[in-house]
Amino acid sequence: MPFAAVDIQDDGGVPDVPQGNPKRSKENRGDRNDHVKKRKKAKKDYQPNYFLSIPITNKKITAGVKVLQNSILRQDKRLAKAMVGDGSLHITLLVMQLLSEDEVNTGTHALLELKPFVEEILEGRRLTLPFHGIDTFQGQVGFVKLADGDHVSALLEIAETAKRTFQEKGILAGESRTFRPHLTFMKLSKAPMLWKKGVRKIEPGLYEQFIDHRFGEEILYQIDLCSMLKKKQSNGYYHCESSIVLGKKSVGTQDLINEALHRERMALKSKVKQIKELLLKPETQARIRKELFEGRVFNNGNPISSADVIMV
Ligand code: C5P
Repeated sequence: MPFAAVDIQDDGGVPDVPQGNPKRSKENRGDRNDHVKKRKKAKKDYQPNYFLSIPITNKKITAGVKVLQNSILRQDKRLAKAMVGDGSLHITLLVMQLLSEDEVNTGTHALLELKPFVEEILEGRRLTLPFHGIDTFQGQVGFVKLADGDHVSALLEIAETAKRTFQEKGILAGESRTFRPHLTFMKLSKAPMLWKKGVRKIEPGLYEQFIDHRFGEEILYQIDLCSMLKKKQSNGYYHCESSIVLGKKSVGTQDLINEALHRERMALKSKVKQIKELLLKPETQARIRKELFEGRVFNNGNPISSADVIMV
């Protein structure tokens, strides 16, 4: 997960909110103040809760990460809770804030719109992502590094295009710090108790054997819109709202299925919402009460009970 509540320690999560070009004249000083206030508020209120994820599916990589984690745990078993589960290994492409069902829908549409842009960047090629060696972010987040090469610029372009696509839909997305693709295998923020136990950083000695290890290659074939906070799936991977499948593997079918399922889900949700609204109306409740008391509502010949109404 890119951010848990405990993870947000700096302003690295501030999105690139598009800025105007306010001039320093008297008449628009008010505008400028408003603009500064709005920006400060956006900064304060911006708590990413969704992200675009590239899932790691290559068994060689997941097995290699497990060996690395076990090797670290043999040296310090207190770190167990800081380890990322192998089912949730991923690369974060973009973080964003989606605060309502409508915003999640907008996010889903943005992801569908992103697909042809990504395919244009890839020009029919497969994007192979090789993982090699280890590094940390300030000794707090341990990750497997993406090796250097042409794939890096393609991935950066995809991440930049994703940010633009989501921001153009009005979604607060991105970070002010530079995008650094990485594969997190542990983070101390997952286990806040470690701080009290005196564990302040991930010591380089813990992973020195893997500093030159080649973990394997992941081929980019899917991008998911995932929740950071919703309950994870039974396989350990994040809750996904939608996905796009890229390249030959997809043949478009998976996307069509995803879209159809999404439409069905939305239609059902909207019906349930209408029924709930109807049931909450005072006139509906008065009518139900009246029908109940007059014994006019029957269930298999018996007057309906309030339990039956709750079942409805
Ligand atoms: O789940 P994910 O791999 O995105 O988690 C990465 C973690 O590393 C997050 O907590 C994020 O805040 C942190 N990070 C960082 N510096 C970066 C990128 C990510 O500290 N440049």
